[in-house]
Amino acid sequence: MSQAIHFDQVRLPPALQALRTEVREFIREEVARGTFDPRRGALRQGYDPDFSRRVGARGWIGMTWPKRYGGGERSFLERYVVTEEFRVANAPVALHFTADRQSGPMLLKYAPERIKKDILPRITRGECCFCIGMSEPNSGSDLFAANVRAAKCEGGWRVNGTKVWTTGAHRADYMIGLFRTSPATSDNRRHGLTQFLVDMKSDGITVNPIRNMSGAHEFNEVVFRDAFVPGDHALGDIDAAWKQATSELAYERSGPERFLETYYLLFEIVHVLGREPDIRGTEGLGRLVAGLHALRRMSVSVNGMLQAGKEPSIEGAIVKDVGTLWQQQLPVRARDLTAFLPTGTPERETFDAVLAHAVRTVPKLTIQGGTSEILRGIIARGLGLR
Ligand SMILES: Cc1cc2nc3c(=O)[nH]c(=O)nc-3n(C[C@H](O)[C@H](O)[C@H](O)COP(=O)(O)OP(=O)(O)OC[C@H]3O[C@@H](n4cnc5c(N)ncnc54)[C@H](O)[C@@H]3O)c2cc1C
Repeated sequence: MSQAIHFDQVRLPPALQALRTEVREFIREEVARGTFDPRRGALRQGYDPDFSRRVGARGWIGMTWPKRYGGGERSFLERYVVTEEFRVANAPVALHFTADRQSGPMLLKYAPERIKKDILPRITRGECCFCIGMSEPNSGSDLFAANVRAAKCEGGWRVNGTKVWTTGAHRADYMIGLFRTSPATSDNRRHGLTQFLVDMKSDGITVNPIRNMSGAHEFNEVVFRDAFVPGDHALGDIDAAWKQATSELAYERSGPERFLETYYLLFEIVHVLGREPDIRGTEGLGRLVAGLHALRRMSVSVNGMLQAGKEPSIEGAIVKDVGTLWQQQLPVRARDLTAFLPTGTPERETFDAVLAHAVRTVPKLTIQGGTSEILRGIIARGLGLR
C-alpha cells in the first residue's frame, strides 16, 4: 500500500532554549577544564568515561526513560536538543551514545524486569557501554541472512559464529546481538532470528580490531566460540526479532547525528573564509547553511512525529539519505570555496587537517545505519513504487 510523504510542521518549543543554554554552559565548563577541544574533537576518538559520568549526573542520558530506571521522563525533543549540542561541539559521547539511543530503549521494551533494574540505571549514570551485533560477513543489508547461531542448552544458549563491523565492541560492556535460533521457513524467510543481550566479558568471545580508512580503530570483528548466554537474556519473542524493528529505526535514522557528523568542517570553512568572504564564499556558505537548515527542520519534524506516536519511517529514511548527501558534498564544497585562499596561516592549517579528516570520514556515511540504496528502496516501497 502506498503512503504519502508527510513532514509535520514541528518546531522546537521556545521553552527548550533554557535547556540548550544549560547544555552549552556545561560544554563551556568541560572545554575550559580541558576535557576536549571542539575544533580538534573530530580528529580524536570520542570515548571518555569521566565525561560520560558527568553527563549522566546531569540527567542527560536516558532522558525519556521512566524515573524508576534512572530516566528523566522528559520528551524526545528535549533529548534532541542535548544530542544536537553535544554533536555540534564534538563532545566525547562514544561510551554512552549507543546505549542511550537504541540499546536502552530496546531493553525497556523487551528485557525482563530484573535486567531493566540492573542495567538501565547504570546506562543513565554513564557507566555502561553497548555495541550492536547485527552485521556478519555474509549478512549486511540483508539482515535476514544472519547466521550466527544460538543453540538451546541447559539454562540458556550457546552462541557460535562471527559478527563484523561492530562499532565499539572493544570497549562495550554489552552487545545486543541478532542470532539465528531456528532456520527460516519456506513461507517466511524472516523467521528464526532472536535478539539477545550479551555480556561482552563472557568466555568464548574474542574481539579483533578492524581499522577504518583513516587508520582509527572504531569497529571490530567479534567471534563467538561456544559463548554462553543465559536464558533470560533473550529479548522479545524467540524466532520473531523481525517483528521488533519498529519506530526505533526512524529514531536511529533521523537524529541530528545523521547530518551533523561532519558539521565541524562547516565551522572551519566559516573560520577560514574570515569575516568578509568574497561573493563566491558568501554564496557557497549560504547554500550550505540553507541545506543544513532544511535538513534540521525535517529531522525535528520526524522526532516530533515520533513523540506524537506516529511512525514516520519513510521520512526518517529521507533524513538519513539527504543528510548523507549533504555531508558528502561538504568536503567538495569546502575545497572549492577555499581554493584561492592563502596557505600557511594557523587557521588554514587547522582547516586542512579537519578537511583531510572529513574526506576520509564521509565515504562511510553511505553505508552505516542503512545504505543509501536500501533507504531509497524503503522510500520507493513506501510510495508504492516497488
Ligand atoms: C562506520 C560503520 C559502522 C558500522 N557499525 C556497525 C555496528 O556497530 N554494528 C553492525 O551490526 N553493523 C555495523 N556496520 C555495518 C553496516 O550496517 C553494514 O556495512 C551495512 O548494513 C551494509 O552491509 P554490507 O557491508 O554487508 O554490504 P552489502 O549489504 O553487501 O551491500 C553492498 C552494496 O550493495 C547494495 N545493496 C545491497 N542490497 C541491495 C538491495 N536489495 N538493493 C539495492 N542495493 C543493494 C548496498 O547498498 C551496497 O552499496 C557499520 C558500518 C560502517 C561503515
